[in-house]
Amino acid sequence: MPKILHQRGKCIGCNLCYEIWPVRWRISRADGKCTLVDGIEKKGVWQVVISEDELSLNQKAAQACPVKIIKIID
Ligand code: SF4
Repeated sequence: MPKILHQRGKCIGCNLCYEIWPVRWRISRADGKCTLVDGIEKKGVWQVVISEDELSLNQKAAQACPVKIIKIID
């Protein structure tokens, strides 16, 4: 199963990941950074296992991220 890794602390809140796949990405009203839906934080990196069905949309989000803080382990 693929896994998403998100270095949330470096997020600049550009909104691109949310626009590509809003089921998995949300902009927090609290701090303006993106939140990985259902993610669990480990040492500053948020992680979640995803299904193959949403892999390609998350890969697009990772490619679009201007600060390259989304990694997909397939
Ligand atoms: S694309 Fe990257 S910088 Fe932009 S909101 Fe998403 S995680 Fe943050």
